[in-house]
Amino acid sequence: MKSQETEYGEPCDRCGEVDEDRRTLWHACFYAMHELKEVPFKQVKITGHLQEQNGTKMLESIQHEIPTYEDVDENEEPRGHTFYTLRVCKRCRSQWMRAIDDWFRDKPVDPESCGSGIFIRDKGSIIEITRERWDEIQAMNESLKGKENED
Ligand SMILES: [Zn+2]
Repeated sequence: MKSQETEYGEPCDRCGEVDEDRRTLWHACFYAMHELKEVPFKQVKITGHLQEQNGTKMLESIQHEIPTYEDVDENEEPRGHTFYTLRVCKRCRSQWMRAIDDWFRDKPVDPESCGSGIFIRDKGSIIEITRERWDEIQAMNESLKGKENED
């Protein structure tokens, strides 16, 4: 039984629905995804060999094509691969897949400069923000510092 599991099942990390039927979403993009502070990722590490897909083959017993992978190079040491995971219900998995589909379909456009010359790092990329937005961020940071000093 996992830590959050109850006799009724496991809560979905996203919507909280408790049921027996959960799926694990695995994420990795060579970035500290825990910066997405509202997403309750767990971090896991798998040690092994990376094998890229090199084709497919028909699995006759279920009449379905399955992927095939490169052979493991026996001379290569196993390496750790870290992932951010979420345990979710099927409905949330479906919405996650739809979100990826939407993201892929909506190609990025180069933003027009707002002329401020103020650039910040935002989830691993550099963006230009307006002076007003910069002032808002500074006010939020001052407010947070004030609360930390009260504690
Ligand atoms: Zn859910």
